[in-house]
Amino acid sequence: MVGNGLCKFRKNMMKIFTYTFLTLILVSCSNAQDISSNDDEKVYKEYNWRLVTSWPKNYPGLGMAPERIADLVEEMSNGQMKITVFGAEEQVPAFGVFDAVSNGSHQMGHSGGYFWKGKVPAAQFFTSVPFGLTADEINAWVNRGGGLELWREIYAPFNIYPIPAGNTGTQMFGWFNKEINSLEDIKGLKMRIPGIGGEVLKEAGGIPVTLPGGELFTALQTGVIDATEWVGPYNDLTFGFHQAAKYYYYPGWHEPGPMLELLINKDAWESLPKHLQVIIETASKAVNQDMLDEYLAKNNQALTELVNVHGVELRKLPDDVIEEFRKISNKILNDLSEEDETIAKVYSSYLKFKKDVSAYHKISEDAFIEARNK
Ligand code: CA
Repeated sequence: MVGNGLCKFRKNMMKIFTYTFLTLILVSCSNAQDISSNDDEKVYKEYNWRLVTSWPKNYPGLGMAPERIADLVEEMSNGQMKITVFGAEEQVPAFGVFDAVSNGSHQMGHSGGYFWKGKVPAAQFFTSVPFGLTADEINAWVNRGGGLELWREIYAPFNIYPIPAGNTGTQMFGWFNKEINSLEDIKGLKMRIPGIGGEVLKEAGGIPVTLPGGELFTALQTGVIDATEWVGPYNDLTFGFHQAAKYYYYPGWHEPGPMLELLINKDAWESLPKHLQVIIETASKAVNQDMLDEYLAKNNQALTELVNVHGVELRKLPDDVIEEFRKISNKILNDLSEEDETIAKVYSSYLKFKKDVSAYHKISEDAFIEARNK
């Protein structure tokens, strides 16, 4: 009896097991079919995306970076993905790029994070902060030092996926119609200077304004602003600032190595097949370096023209003025860190990286450059 019972039990168990096993196979097959048909659709579909920027159309350096990304993506994807690039104001205002990508009216944008300081104060660290990281250093922090993870975390609530996409290298302090001999000369000065650099100018008694690049020449020429920073000789020459201001000051303490950003609407990003995501990341990485190379190759040539052909007076800020700006910058960065939890998190990562990389650069690049230039 016991033997028969056991046998019946085994038979029943086998039936249940076989049924469950077959059901699992059928379910997994039908899932596989669903996934595979979705994947096929994603993998072979053609994508036509629109990219808005904060720069004039085809503007050297800044405006060409998104054009190059678009060209590379189209070539690497064998025409599967086409990106149409729009200059500032063509579809959205220069400073409307973040919102356009966030709300999905456009899948992509190209801009600088410090323009969104009113909305995402911590975004400024991913462009440039005064006396902060140089181009090589911010590349290392973002790509290999934990910066990118923080950046993606703080843009996620805005439904945006950021990718590093360009760097101008160390900028110039900018264009002035009077000499800056002490901090007194900053008082009451209305200057176009974005980001935390603007906060520093304000603390020093100046009046910072943020205007898109395309409006700067007229604003300077008509006296709407007294002074402006923009980028460096290569770009500043194309805007003709030398026709509206006499003195060209350095160093650009406020923007030591600003990183630009490719903004992608997160839903659009997630709708892409993996290979197109890899192509976009790779194209952006190539352009991030290519833009820096372009500025480095062209800046001195443009500076020589500004000084020798256009008679621009090149001036270094007095050491004590730079020291004052440095003290104010550190105070502002610490205050911001105390007021804003996200800034505290980002700044602590940024600051630790800066300390470590500066310590190493002292005995590597800094020491070598000093030796080479003697
Ligand atoms: Ca600038």
